[in-house]
Amino acid sequence: MSYVDEVIAQVIEKNPSQPEFHQAVKEVLDSLRLVIEQNEDAYRKDALLERLVTPERQLIFRVPWVDDKGQVQVNTGYRVQFNSAIGPYKGGIRLHPSVNLGIIKFLGFEQVFKNSLTGLPIGGGKGGSDFDPKGKSDREVMAFCQSFMTELSKYIGADTDVPAGDIGTGAREIGYMFGQYKRLQNRYEGVLTGKGLSYGGSLARTEATGYGLLYLVEEMMKCHGEEMTGKTVVVSGAGNVAIYAIQKAQQMGAKVVTCSDSTGWIYDPEGIDVDLLKEVKEVRRARLTEYAAARESAVYTQGRGVWAIPCDIALPCATQNELLIDDAKQLVAGGCKAVAEGANMPTTLDATAYLQENGVLFVPGKASNAGGVATSALEMTQNSERLSWSFEEVDSKLQNIMINIYHNIDNAAKKYGKEGNYVVGANIAGFEKVVSAMNAQGIV
Ligand code: NDP
Repeated sequence: MSYVDEVIAQVIEKNPSQPEFHQAVKEVLDSLRLVIEQNEDAYRKDALLERLVTPERQLIFRVPWVDDKGQVQVNTGYRVQFNSAIGPYKGGIRLHPSVNLGIIKFLGFEQVFKNSLTGLPIGGGKGGSDFDPKGKSDREVMAFCQSFMTELSKYIGADTDVPAGDIGTGAREIGYMFGQYKRLQNRYEGVLTGKGLSYGGSLARTEATGYGLLYLVEEMMKCHGEEMTGKTVVVSGAGNVAIYAIQKAQQMGAKVVTCSDSTGWIYDPEGIDVDLLKEVKEVRRARLTEYAAARESAVYTQGRGVWAIPCDIALPCATQNELLIDDAKQLVAGGCKAVAEGANMPTTLDATAYLQENGVLFVPGKASNAGGVATSALEMTQNSERLSWSFEEVDSKLQNIMINIYHNIDNAAKKYGKEGNYVVGANIAGFEKVVSAMNAQGIV
């Protein structure tokens, strides 16, 4: 059996009931076969792949808090510190009822390669809890965040591990967590990113993932002789990534006709009204039915369905495994030319293969959504310098980073004879840097 197959089999055996983690490891290792086969003996002797797929540290802890009725609630907290070969662990905190160890491990594993691709000195980690901020009062969210940070604060720090936002963790949650960290540690340091502007946050961090996604897509389209103006774009999600992806796509002259949330989706042939979407989702924290109620051109449908709308570009920006094989078939039938992932692993393996086989340009999230973590790293730099850069300065650095990522993954794919296969390109480009740092640091 090849070394890659051996390690995939071991991961499945040693990490039962963690299908998302198996899926992420399989996707990465499968696409690295070419590189690994060239060094198989050395890598096997050093157990390089076993070390790469095993987190350096995994923390699981109790998070007790008191709800507004005086009832004690207990959630589970996680932090997986996956790989620190190229810098302090960096990755978001996901607050969602679906969170479990396998999901945090898949996200942490992906983060290692994504962070490497940014070209910045950040290792990979991820955290979260099965706590659901939806429907909770501000006081309940604060009680949870303070309890979560009381435990987590023992293991993180500006030079050790710097968490950030993710699904369910926005500015409010980061604020409560930062306040509790500062109180416990008596240190005012850049221990979290995604902070508010009045206490060390970076301009353009809120927009970074969505904007970065479009900067990369624009560069890719340009390199394939296409421009964004006049393109029809289909987006899923209605959260942080989706909102700013829609905004930037529209600034570039494209028309975005869909968005979705966990209960339904909007088709708006006039183009999504971003200000209204922000009002509904960011201010009122309401369902998309309220968007449809306020806009005549919009049609709301319960359930899922955005991928059935004919488009030039599709941007899945909600969550993992939301673009399935039948969706991929609909996209191809509808004339879609490019799919770039705003979310982490939104496309299943068979859907990815189908898109690639049918000539759709496909960019995996670890490359196309890396703008968020890249700007988080820029926030860390500003915190260390005790300076704040202007919006334009951060945005222009972000744009350069995304353009570089595109060319890095494109070149890596070409180098190994897989031109246009950005999954292979992203995994190889991310892997090479991490492995070189791991080798230099000995068996640790
Ligand atoms: P948000 O919580 O702001 O938004 C998530 C959106 O996806 C919401 O519209 C939500 O619907 C929808 N959603 C969540 N879970 C499901 C589900 N199970 N089924 C259908 N829809 C769902 O998160 P973000 O926008 O920050 O993150 C979106 C994705 O992007 C995630 O995969 C995240 O890991 C990834 N990402 C985020 C980055 C960032 O900087 N924020 C950086 C890189 C990646 P509802 O409104 O109903 O909750």
